[in-house]
Amino acid sequence: MATTSLDLARVRNIGIMAHIDAGKTTTTERILYYTGMSYKIGEVHDGAATTDWMEQEQERGITITSAAVTCHWSLDDVDNTINIIDTPGHVDFTVEVERSLRVLDGAVTVFDGVAGVEPQSETVWRQADRYGVPRICFVNKLDRTGADFFRCVDMIVDRLGATPLVMQLPIGAEAGFKGVVDLVRMKALVWSEETKLGEMYDVVDIPADLQDQAEEWHGKLVEGVAENDEEIMELYLEGEEPSPEQLTAAIRRVTLASTGAEGSITVTPVFCGTAFKNKGVQPLLDAVVRYLPSPLDVEAVEGHSPRDAEQVILRKPSEEEPLAALAFKIASDPHLGKLTFIRIYSGVLTAGAQVQNSVKEKKERIGKIYRMHANKREEIDRVGAGDIVAVMGLKQTTTGETLCDPGNPVILESMDFPAPVIEVA
Ligand code: GDP
Repeated sequence: MATTSLDLARVRNIGIMAHIDAGKTTTTERILYYTGMSYKIGEVHDGAATTDWMEQEQERGITITSAAVTCHWSLDDVDNTINIIDTPGHVDFTVEVERSLRVLDGAVTVFDGVAGVEPQSETVWRQADRYGVPRICFVNKLDRTGADFFRCVDMIVDRLGATPLVMQLPIGAEAGFKGVVDLVRMKALVWSEETKLGEMYDVVDIPADLQDQAEEWHGKLVEGVAENDEEIMELYLEGEEPSPEQLTAAIRRVTLASTGAEGSITVTPVFCGTAFKNKGVQPLLDAVVRYLPSPLDVEAVEGHSPRDAEQVILRKPSEEEPLAALAFKIASDPHLGKLTFIRIYSGVLTAGAQVQNSVKEKKERIGKIYRMHANKREEIDRVGAGDIVAVMGLKQTTTGETLCDPGNPVILESMDFPAPVIEVA
């Protein structure tokens, strides 16, 4: 059984948000597939096994019904844990949407490359603003007739009022779409003509006919970052070119600072591809790790004393702090029965521990703790701050309630339900 603590800097708790049909399910499935491959959870080695595995998953519908799925992605030879939290994005502000947004730290917004920014894209964008969620964008379906990456980028400005940082240029269009230019590293990532699921791209020099365009957009990217980051601005003013590492670090800073707060402009890195045709998802995973927050990047969570709603209590994402966790979803698992999905904000939770439900003022015994992967569940005996797991054995706890150290009670979710946000036409 796994007992080690996670390196919190290597954890990403993310949601994938989209207008219906933009490709959220396909993108999520591809992410689970690629991450499963990189981590070798399943016995997936060749094309046939792959398809079987995907079909099985589809039958069980785990990507759709599991409230949170854990996967692993290795970047520069370092392993990262990514918890994907299911966000029911097609509905406006319901308690369920609120809770799923509350437990994630960053988001990937998926757009249909033909339709661009659609009404529900605006809805999910406002939801992410409301919860201060930094986000990156993925313009999907670039293989479709009529797909237009730059029109979508313009719509991100016009409809969402955001500042997009164009991170990639598409290579080829529609049926001829075959890859992207990475505008940070100034390399072309090219997939083969008929990419199989799981196939890696080749990293090659930027094609000669795209060289000028790539230089131009690289310049725009550096300018866009400089406008929002002092370090890059200084280099820019001195006429110095930032290194890819400097640019990456600055884009991370700028993205993390873009929490959609009232009156501020959301700066968002924009990527592209076609999830269905298996092009663009691996670089998107790199971007999740590079640009979206870890639990350590998020401020201490705020709660209040159960005795006095006015008494604010802060809990930092540290295992040294007393336990504070939020139950955000209750699910019925076909094999395990009732599972309660929780996010641990501070402290450590161990299997068998007695904890306090501070809302109901009742003690609860934690049963088994599971990390839910796409194709297996992993029983663990402890889980620390910043992580998301499913637990068995909770009898009285419902969603929105706090589980905490009996000696240090805190209530995390405030009871006042936020007012709905008016849709911008
Ligand atoms: P969701 O409603 O956002 O979860 O969208 P889905 O992932 O279910 O996709 C909606 C439809 O678009 C499905 O028929 C997918 O096969 C298709 N689709 C998803 N991604 C792509 C893509 O990159 N290219 C094309 N041509 N079709 C796609």
